[in-house]
Amino acid sequence: MQLRETRRFLDPNGSSAKYAQRAHLVFPDGITRETIRRHPYSPSQDRGQGSHLVDVDGDERIDFLFNYTSLIHGHCYPPVANAIAEQANRIGAVSFPSGLEGRLGQELLQRVAIQPARIRLVNSGTEAVMLAIQTAREATGRSKILRFDGCYHGSLLPLRRNRGSVRVGAEEVLCAFNDPAEAQGTFEREGDHLACVLLDPFPSRGALAPARPEFLDVIESLRRRHGVLLVVDEVMTSRVAYQGATSQLDLAPDLICLGKYIGGGLPVGAIAMRPELAALFSWESGPAIAHGGTFNGNPLTMAAGIACLSHLNDEQIRRVNELTALFCAELRAVFSARRTDWTVRHAGSLFHLWPQTRLPMSPEEAHDPRARRRLGELAFFLLCHGVVLAPSGLGCLATTTQASDVEYLLSAVRQYLLHAA
Ligand code: PMP
Repeated sequence: MQLRETRRFLDPNGSSAKYAQRAHLVFPDGITRETIRRHPYSPSQDRGQGSHLVDVDGDERIDFLFNYTSLIHGHCYPPVANAIAEQANRIGAVSFPSGLEGRLGQELLQRVAIQPARIRLVNSGTEAVMLAIQTAREATGRSKILRFDGCYHGSLLPLRRNRGSVRVGAEEVLCAFNDPAEAQGTFEREGDHLACVLLDPFPSRGALAPARPEFLDVIESLRRRHGVLLVVDEVMTSRVAYQGATSQLDLAPDLICLGKYIGGGLPVGAIAMRPELAALFSWESGPAIAHGGTFNGNPLTMAAGIACLSHLNDEQIRRVNELTALFCAELRAVFSARRTDWTVRHAGSLFHLWPQTRLPMSPEEAHDPRARRRLGELAFFLLCHGVVLAPSGLGCLATTTQASDVEYLLSAVRQYLLHAA
């Protein structure tokens, strides 16, 4: 297959270059978030439809990242775009409920592995994680939290143990992901002081490394013994099954964090909690948590989220997961035909490329500068040849991804391997 050259964004007189120059005058380092950092700068995007994007320099690419997995139906999905337009002409933001938040909330109640549950809506995954931690602290009267090294839980929690100038707070205990012995030792030392364990069942920073059953067993049994709440961060993973990744594991969380696609592509986050925890938000009991947020339950986001989820039933999730599994099997065949050490791991409709035969089992193992460099080179080659993938190797499919999109990506990877050889 002939690949498209999509490198007009690199033209110093092009529109992307001008936007990047202007951004440097406004934003520290010229960016509004780490995830859009590219070298030398990103192509600015003009429009999108389904799985396709067109940048401001006129180049078209197939998206396999979808705003970091937040657009499960792809770009400008007509039911979502129409719902937003209609709602924008009705009421956009208001100091009252709109009734729409109840509808999205009810959708979410069915889609979490806490049954029954209660929901609080926020505006990002970061905020959902912070609110879940606050809820656990109030519920237990303890302040420490246990989380796992290198796992991303939003922009407000440092990723790693004491790296660079960032210090993990005294209220946080970090231990290695997928290491049952270290988790056990930590519970023995700290268990009675912990409010919660914060767990991502397959962290993207570990190339979607699945939590091992023995690791989960230690966490579940010891956190129960010590009265520690379990918070599962499903901001990225909830899309893998109708009731999220947790529904496929032997876990009984007290709180689940959601975000990304549940707002149909608009900014959103949510926590689902056991009904007993909902009392913390009640005026009859205080309230312990007076939870505000100007845009919580924003009608535009609610309308987009309802439209998105009403087109995402079990069957639709299964279909996009199957296409992803098929794509990954074909990709592995490409790698083995070329006798390279590249491989790929997938979970539902998420996938992660990896430039070594042995896949990492934790973010620590994935913290490999050589692997990161090779992944970055592949992503840059793809960016210049009509495909968007995260520089980390993370990608996903949308329900609007076509078999021809997948064919194109396979072809582009094949040509990259030839080019890199
Ligand atoms: N938790 C996880 C597991 C995530 O993947 C992310 C976002 N990538 C977040 C939290 C934070 O979500 P947001 O970017 O919406 O703040």
